[in-house]
Amino acid sequence: MIDLLSEDEFLSRAQQVPLQPLHWSLAKQKGIEVLVRRDDLIDTHLSGNKFYKLFYNLRAAQVLGHSQLLSFGGAYSNHIYALAAAANAYGFKSIGVIRGERPKQLSATLLDAEAWGMQLHFVSRADYRDKCSRELMAKLKSLYGDFFEIPEGGANASGAMGTRALGAAIHQQVKSDYTAICVAAGTANTLAGLAAGLVQDSSPQVAGSVLGFSVLKGEGNLGADLIGHQKSIASETSNWRLISGYHGGGYGKKLPNDLRQFMFEFERETKLILDPVYTLKMCWGVAQLLAQNYWPRGSRLILVHTGGLQGRRGFHLD
Ligand SMILES: *Cc1c(COP(=O)(O)O)cnc(C)c1O
Repeated sequence: MIDLLSEDEFLSRAQQVPLQPLHWSLAKQKGIEVLVRRDDLIDTHLSGNKFYKLFYNLRAAQVLGHSQLLSFGGAYSNHIYALAAAANAYGFKSIGVIRGERPKQLSATLLDAEAWGMQLHFVSRADYRDKCSRELMAKLKSLYGDFFEIPEGGANASGAMGTRALGAAIHQQVKSDYTAICVAAGTANTLAGLAAGLVQDSSPQVAGSVLGFSVLKGEGNLGADLIGHQKSIASETSNWRLISGYHGGGYGKKLPNDLRQFMFEFERETKLILDPVYTLKMCWGVAQLLAQNYWPRGSRLILVHTGGLQGRRGFHLD
């Protein structure tokens, strides 16, 4: 086993992530300054918010003496990709429980995961819905031996604890000098952790200053308990809001033409490359709010680039 980053190294990596000005004519027209926090640059493979969500999960696995990790995801999952990369880097074995039957041709994501030594275990969509069932867990244990289980997307308390580092780093970088921080939300674990991490003794909190743009079609899809869980993580603060309506058809769905067009134009103009599942939806939502004059002139926005660029390979964009 290779030593994980120390907590100090982890926090300092978060603080070194650059905040870059975004040259975006729409924002300029509206008199709004936009900075992008480039968490997509934090690591080549273990990138974006998954870097944060996995940190305390890996530590917990190590402390509990596990040498094998198991988690869940779809064929283009950023979480599975990051987990396989992390397991490979730090000397864990890993198992990916993948939604759907094994296809003849594996996705680029799963090919990489396999190349990093992850064992892929495919389950039908019906079984996947019930993926934490005792039967499946018992079957997996008998097939692969003991493992440390991480939920889909790394969305547990350790995940949110890691994403607090995002908030702490932003606080360290800009103090309270922002109008809103925008982040894409799937399970909203990152949103909750980031918002909690921003709360430092010296910082006055502004209600709703962290905006999570949900990529899901309505909270219902996600499971009300999950949202409830994130709400309780962030209940110490009311500085965040989940914004829905900019999911572009829903999670992992084919991109509607207007969204695709927006993506090409945004990337061409700003030179910031987006992932089609998450950061695109966040930028699209921000564009709609800018167009509606949601923020007054002179506002300063921070957009968090949560990574996920490997997932572009499923969309035939390049
Ligand atoms: C997983 C992921 C998210 C969603 O994070 P949650 O904590 O589930 O809200 C956002 N952006 C990217 C690029 C991701 O891979």
